[in-house]
Amino acid sequence: MTQSASVPFLPFVRPEIDEETIQGVVDVLRSGWITTGPQNQAFEAALSAYCGGRPVRTFNSGTATLEIGLRLAGVSPGDEVITTPASWVSTSNVIYEVGATPVFADIDPVTRNIDLDKLEAAITPKTKAIIPVFLAGLPVDMDRLYAIARQHKLRVVEDAAQAFGASWNGKRIGAIGDIVSFSFHANKNLTSIEGGALVLNDEAEAVLAQKYRLQGITRTGIDGMDCDVLGGKYNLTDVAARVGLGQLKHIERFTAQRRALARRYFAQFEGGAAVKLGMGLPVADFDNCNWHMFQITLPLEQLSIDRAGFMEQLKERGIGSGVHYPAIHLFTLYRERGFKAGMFPLAERLGKTTVTLPLFTQMTDADVERVCDAVNEICAQYAK
Ligand SMILES: *Cc1c(COP(=O)(O)O)cnc(C)c1O
Repeated sequence: MTQSASVPFLPFVRPEIDEETIQGVVDVLRSGWITTGPQNQAFEAALSAYCGGRPVRTFNSGTATLEIGLRLAGVSPGDEVITTPASWVSTSNVIYEVGATPVFADIDPVTRNIDLDKLEAAITPKTKAIIPVFLAGLPVDMDRLYAIARQHKLRVVEDAAQAFGASWNGKRIGAIGDIVSFSFHANKNLTSIEGGALVLNDEAEAVLAQKYRLQGITRTGIDGMDCDVLGGKYNLTDVAARVGLGQLKHIERFTAQRRALARRYFAQFEGGAAVKLGMGLPVADFDNCNWHMFQITLPLEQLSIDRAGFMEQLKERGIGSGVHYPAIHLFTLYRERGFKAGMFPLAERLGKTTVTLPLFTQMTDADVERVCDAVNEICAQYAK
């Protein structure tokens, strides 16, 4: 079966921007103040209210927020930071950026997040911080994570890039924890086109975050200025902040719709050819997870095509898909720094078999059914 001309291509992700937001952006462009200003203040205030009143500062990416988060946690050359190899490479690149050393702990193959037993085993006297990643918006066991952090006196910089709208036992991600890093990249559940935010512990930390965000500058009075820390250039434009504000109004609906679509995926896949062949499904969590992505793992040993072939077959049927993510430690930069295949076999296996299927708010149940039918059909056609 090939794509019929009447069925539009279904991408794996597509942002939903309403007309009110588009008009709001036009108003910002006409206002005479287009970079960091009143829209950012409003966005920070709204994010802070969402995160239980904790201080929030916006940044121009979720990579900047992770890097500044590590600086705020006091991570410096010689320190080790423990994280997962199953993430976007940003998560560990920032550890090198601040001069520290990434230490990976393999994943739990069920949750696909860092295995907290392995995390604990990886702690050394040099460990300064932990970066847990909430892959696809599924939080790790936050009670256990923070028990480990407290016991070993470690800072936590949560890579919650994918977890805006997610929660842990009724508490919002961002409203709890140590330093929390969000990304508002175009593909995330809440977008400002590009952007990010840090949720912080107190005003002193927020003031320092603000310095790191813009050249270490503090202004006093109408003409006073000093620079007392080495900051960078990480501020968010007001155009971007206005997009984020427009999105934030809908976050509860976005999350509810994603959860409903995820439920539909499970129902539709049940008992089908793909599952019978051993296709892996994510954890069916509809309380904590914000369903940033719906990711299957392919039963490649049972198929006569590889993952690229499988994705091509989906594409021929008018369906987009993605890979999130190849194991970080197998990238050239990381191999050059001593990492090898076989070190984190579960993350490696996930990285080789994972496929992200379409999931975004404007999808319909019929779209989900079309995707599931295509996956089952391809699996049946190429079963060994
Ligand atoms: C998107 C993402 C980042 C980086 O965010 P950017 O805004 O793209 O810089 C970091 N970690 C994870 C897990 C992400 O998904």
